[in-house]
Amino acid sequence: MSSGKINVAVENIFPLIKKFLYSDHEIFLRELVSNATDATLKLKHLTNISEAKVAYGNPHIEIKVDKDKRTLHIIDEGLGMTTEEVNKYINEVAFSGAEEFINQYKDSAKDSGIIGHFGLGFYSAFMVSEKVEIITKSHKDEPAAHWTCDGSPEYTLVEHDKTIRGTEIILHIDSESDEFLEEARIKELLTKYNKFMPIPIKFGTREETREEGEGEDKKEVKETVDNIINNPTPAWTKKPTELKDEDYTSFYRELYPMQFEEPLFHIHLNVDYPFALTGILYFPKLNNDLNIQKDRIQLYQNQVFVTDNVEGIVPEFLTMLRGVIDSPDIPLNVSRSYLQADGAVKKISNYITKKVADKLQSIFKNERENLEQKWNDIKMVIEYGMLSEEKFYDKAKKFNLFPTTDGRFLTLDELKEQTKEAQTDKDGKLIQLYAANIDEQHAYIQAAKDKGYTVLLLNSPIVGHLLQKLEQEDDKLGFVRVDADHIDKLIAKDEPQLSKLSDEQKETLKPLIEDVVPKEKYTVQLEAMDSEAAPFMITQPEFMRRMKEMQQTGGGGMFGGGFPDMYQLVVNVNHPLVSQILETKTKKKQERLIKQSLDLARLSQSLLKGEELTAFIKRSFDMIK
Ligand code: ADP
Ligand code: MG
Repeated sequence: MSSGKINVAVENIFPLIKKFLYSDHEIFLRELVSNATDATLKLKHLTNISEAKVAYGNPHIEIKVDKDKRTLHIIDEGLGMTTEEVNKYINEVAFSGAEEFINQYKDSAKDSGIIGHFGLGFYSAFMVSEKVEIITKSHKDEPAAHWTCDGSPEYTLVEHDKTIRGTEIILHIDSESDEFLEEARIKELLTKYNKFMPIPIKFGTREETREEGEGEDKKEVKETVDNIINNPTPAWTKKPTELKDEDYTSFYRELYPMQFEEPLFHIHLNVDYPFALTGILYFPKLNNDLNIQKDRIQLYQNQVFVTDNVEGIVPEFLTMLRGVIDSPDIPLNVSRSYLQADGAVKKISNYITKKVADKLQSIFKNERENLEQKWNDIKMVIEYGMLSEEKFYDKAKKFNLFPTTDGRFLTLDELKEQTKEAQTDKDGKLIQLYAANIDEQHAYIQAAKDKGYTVLLLNSPIVGHLLQKLEQEDDKLGFVRVDADHIDKLIAKDEPQLSKLSDEQKETLKPLIEDVVPKEKYTVQLEAMDSEAAPFMITQPEFMRRMKEMQQTGGGGMFGGGFPDMYQLVVNVNHPLVSQILETKTKKKQERLIKQSLDLARLSQSLLKGEELTAFIKRSFDMIK
């Protein structure tokens, strides 16, 4: 028997480990299962290169809870440790055996998937235990070793009669950590951290029914089988060429069992230089919902779950996506601010942006119809990306689509080409018209179409920011919503309409209308328009409306507080109804005509509601009876 003092740089590292090493106590299980996995992968490697003279077989890892004895067992069939190795790897804390192994087998082992590299993982066991035992039998022909430590720097190390190769870690759970004696809790942790680890993990057993025999003799047989909690070969570890679309969809289900919608697109990530990274990203159906997603991208390291907070690693606009990223090169257990400053991490983020842009570009080129079909569900991510990442903007400009109110999807270049003839105004500026809602702005859309103009349908909550950016870049390009002004003014041409009313008549008309219309909401504007155009029409200046919308989704808030809801009441002096108002002799009748016309204009802008709508309906019935 030998006993001694664990050799640590700091006199007493245990209180430190217990408190500060990991704020989350539950990760001890992840660390121990990682070590068990490493031990198995190391043995696999050594048998592959014939350095271990044993059969690798079909090794498992097993987790057991003994509630009565208050112990938790992590058992592997990996390479094990000799007494000498226990001394070296366990007693000399902060000496990572994994690191040493990789260094020693540098060339052959670098792709072996070994996880450890801190040399403190094992000691996280003391965060939840009052005593820890290691019983380990090396693959080498040496007696097994039994190490025991109660959390003080003193340990004992004796021989043990274990004959089967591998290591068993026994945790004597302390009184503050009772939760880790509950099977349900352990199961939860295994599913959270180890669901995709590369060595099968057994936790208890389960009943399985299978059919046996043929025809008459057919019967169901119940069988007790090992309950394996993980999928050792998740989709992202395979080559894209080995996978079909269904495989990607079923992996999505495996990742997010509570998601019922199918993902729209997937992107398989796979690089090994200048950093190693694999993963699969999915575009979920987002609609216009800006709410924070519950199911997020999960970050793994060699198939061990690390976190679902990928902030800093994945560019912000892509955090709306789902899926997994697995990279051994992302530093773990470090603060977020450090992560953001890390050069490797920045490269990873850039790579992901580029991959997503390239994938979308290729869908645009090869299956444009598919992209068009799903455009409305993904446009938010793309718009957000164009606004937040300059590199993405440059690429996305070529495949960013503008849906039209008649169901077409045009790139900016196509749109410019198709509209330049009809929609260039007298100052040489190309004006793009858009609507946010086909039903609510129907009258305005119709007026624009009658002129032969193309009307876009732009309804994402952040599109205003993008329009702003496009206009800043090209001062010969402007976007205006169809209800921002009357059509002749939206795209001003050289030939102004002649007015049927004299200036004198207009001066009489204006105060008549202003008297009836609520001043704080509407400014009255007389315009000479086509006699076919609506007599009364409500518009809201583009600038005001856009600023207001942009403020609601962040940025553009140069006015601090909210904007007032100000509208213009455009009165078409060439319309016969307007002449009729002017000629009406009785004050009461005149007022009624103005009121009715105003309400009709409000109705076509969906601005007439509640009590005013009721009054309008009553008045209309009175007028027709
Ligand atoms: P790391 O995993 O980062 O190397 P750990 O503190 O988790 O650091 O483990 C220290 C070392 O102890 C490992 O590198 C390994 O050599 C040894 N070890 C731990 N657990 C096992 C195990 N189950 N089987 C064999 N060796 C182990
Ligand atoms: Mg470890």
